[in-house]
Amino acid sequence: MSTSEYRPEFTAYEGNLDEVEVRASEPLKNFYGMSLEDLKSYLSGLGKEQFRAQQIFKWAYERRITDYELMSNLSKTFREELKGLLDFSMPPVLSHLISVDGTQKFLFDMGDKNTVEAVVIPSDDRLTLCISSEVGCNMGCKFCFTGKQKLKRRLKASEIVGQFMQAHDRLKPGQRISNIVFMGMGEPLDNPEAVFKSIEILHDPWGMNVSRRKITVSTSGLVPEMWRVAANKVRLAVSLNGSNDEIRSQVMPLNKRYPIKELMAACHEYANETGEKVTLEYVLLKGVTDQLTHAQELHRLTKSLPCKINLIPFNEHPGSGYERPADAQIEKFQNELIRLGSHVLLRRTMGRDIFAACGQLTSEFANKPQTMDISNSKIGSTYSKTKQPLSPSRTVEINN
Ligand code: SAH
Ligand code: SF4
Repeated sequence: MSTSEYRPEFTAYEGNLDEVEVRASEPLKNFYGMSLEDLKSYLSGLGKEQFRAQQIFKWAYERRITDYELMSNLSKTFREELKGLLDFSMPPVLSHLISVDGTQKFLFDMGDKNTVEAVVIPSDDRLTLCISSEVGCNMGCKFCFTGKQKLKRRLKASEIVGQFMQAHDRLKPGQRISNIVFMGMGEPLDNPEAVFKSIEILHDPWGMNVSRRKITVSTSGLVPEMWRVAANKVRLAVSLNGSNDEIRSQVMPLNKRYPIKELMAACHEYANETGEKVTLEYVLLKGVTDQLTHAQELHRLTKSLPCKINLIPFNEHPGSGYERPADAQIEKFQNELIRLGSHVLLRRTMGRDIFAACGQLTSEFANKPQTMDISNSKIGSTYSKTKQPLSPSRTVEINN
C-alpha cells in the first residue's frame, strides 16, 4: 500500500462485498500498533504459526517491504488472507521542511482535520527524533505554543510508530534515527498506554531496534504516572521551568496539583530505581525565570538529585506574552549554575527558521507564522517562501 494512504485502525474493510461478509468479525488492524507479542497472539488466534510474526516484522521493519505480494516466504493464500486483516498505513505527511541547520520538520495528517508534528534533529553522532503523543495538550503551560490548543485527542501507538517510520523512510541512505525524545506535541504521560506500547514496538530487535537508553520521555510532572518511565527502562526528562512553587504554578498550572516537593520525590525515586540521571528542563523566560536568584534556588532544589539541567531559552511565538532573555543573561544564568556546581547544559536551538524549536509545535497549521519553504520532500510543503531573515542557531546539547 502506498504510504500516502492512511486508514485509521479498525475501519471497515474496503475490499469486495463477498469478502466483507467473511471478514465481518475481523476488523482491519494497523500493523504499526502491534508489538511482536501482540502479532504472535493475534496470528495464533487465527490458527497460524507464531514465527510468521517475526517474518512479517522482518519484512516491514528491516526491509521496509509492506506489499504482501513481495513477502515471498509467506504462502499465497496466507498473503491473501492477511490483506483483509493487517494494514500498513501510516499518517500521511502533509509537509516536510528542512532547516538550514539540517533539522527536518514533518506535519502529519491524523484525520478529522487533526495534525501533529515531529522533528528530526541532527547532531555530531546522532539523529534524534522528537515525536508527538497527542493532538494539542491539556496541561496549559503558559509559555507553550502546543498548550494554547486544548487536547483534541490522544494518539494511538500506531500513529506514534507511524511518525517514526515516515521520518525514517525519508532519511538519506545509511542514516538511522538513533534517539527518540517524547518532546513534541502533547504530554506523553497523559497518554501512557499508547506511548509505552510504541516504545515497546520501536525498541524490539525485530522492529527498529532503538535502545531504551536512547529513548527519553519528557513530562510536565504528572506525578502519579511517572513510575512508568522507570518501569519501562527509558530516560526521564522533567519540565521544571520554575525554581519555586509560586513561579512554577504561574507558568505551569499543573504544579498546583503536583507541587515541586512531590515532583522532586518522584524524580529521586526514578534515579534510585534506575541509577540514571534525570534531565531537568528549564525554560528561560525573560524577567520570570532567568534571574540569578532563580539560578541559586534551582541549584539548591536539585543539588541532591543525580541530574543534569537543560536550559532552554524561550522560543518566541505570537501572542505568548513572554520574551527570550538576552544572550548575556542566559550566559550569566548558566555560569551561576556552573559556579555552584550544577551539571548544566544549554539546549541548542535548532530549526527556528522552520518553527520547529521546542514549544513551537502546534497542530493549528493555519495560525503558523509563514516562514520559509526549503522542503525537498517528495510531498512538498504548503508553506510559502518569504524573505524573513533566518534566526541564528546557538550553542550546545540536545537531550540524551
Ligand atoms: N509535554 C512534555 C513534552 C513536550 S514539551 C513536557 O512538557 O515535558 C517539551 C519541552 O519544551 C518542555 O520542556 C517544555 O518546557 C519546553 N517548551 C515548551 N514551550 C517552549 C517554548 N516556547 N520555548 C522553549 N521551550 C519550550
Ligand atoms: Fe503540554 Fe508540554 Fe506544552 Fe506543557 S510544555 S502545554 S505539558 S506540551
